[in-house]
Amino acid sequence: MAMSFCLIVNPAAGRSSPWRNWANRWLRRQPRHYYQTASTAVSAVIDRLRYHGATIDIHYTTQSGDATRYAQLAAESGRYAAVIAMGGDGTINEVINGIIDTDVPLGVIPFGTANVYCSAFHLPNTINDAVDRIIAGKTTHIDVGSIHNRYFVCMAGIGFDAYIITRHSSSLKSYFGGFSYLITALRHYFSYPFHPISYCVDGRSTVHKCALFIISNTHLYGGRFALSPNASPSDGYLNACVFNDIRIMSILKNAKHLVCGQPQKMIGFKSFLCKEIEFKSGPSHTIHCDAEVIGHTPATAHIHSKKLRIIH
Ligand SMILES: [Mg+2]
Repeated sequence: MAMSFCLIVNPAAGRSSPWRNWANRWLRRQPRHYYQTASTAVSAVIDRLRYHGATIDIHYTTQSGDATRYAQLAAESGRYAAVIAMGGDGTINEVINGIIDTDVPLGVIPFGTANVYCSAFHLPNTINDAVDRIIAGKTTHIDVGSIHNRYFVCMAGIGFDAYIITRHSSSLKSYFGGFSYLITALRHYFSYPFHPISYCVDGRSTVHKCALFIISNTHLYGGRFALSPNASPSDGYLNACVFNDIRIMSILKNAKHLVCGQPQKMIGFKSFLCKEIEFKSGPSHTIHCDAEVIGHTPATAHIHSKKLRIIH
């Protein structure tokens, strides 16, 4: 019997932009598949799946929450060998939240701006290779984190990095791609109040404070930066990354260390393993999961060991 797949496409993800096209030419980089239009890319996915004799049902998302709903219905139907997310990290996050308590595996066709998930799990960059990987069907169970009952697979952020997602415009993103987040961060850095974030770790009563908190489940942050080089998505722990020095000169020096792959040299930075982080009440801080804003503090983050089945 032919294998059947459910493909969930975010057609707004990873659109081409004049700046990105120019950057690719300047860097002499081969344009990746996600610079194509969504319809061209979806046709390529269909062709490759049919080449393997597979059948496919396609759903296009039009608003936030669609991908979770389609993924949940697909998993409940029991008809599919896998649910395939075709979009960026936000689309992948929505899909995992739809299949999380089922044994239906996640397949991914990278089609976003940063594609942190695909980089973190060393997934192929081209459509044919990504489909071939899905058809091969090698799966594993990985950990996921959660905050406010929302699961995340790559990272969560509390404070400034979540705030800039709320201030970020899609038109800027369509022109500058991932750099649009840096532009937005610079624009809002001087007006952001940076109220301290209060937190406790693993049920202990000691309250710590910091300026910015990032929780990693994989080693990458912001596309290609190894913020938690030793993070494992299958060790049963979250990697907490705490920033205490937000002076502009420290940030610039830290950016250099991050780009050079030496986060341990960053000023006012510490990283540790934990299973639970409670963010206390006080000044409210925005929270994102995989770059999707999901609420505010107070909140508690948990690790869920080997809860998600993925194709890798
Ligand atoms: Mg881990």
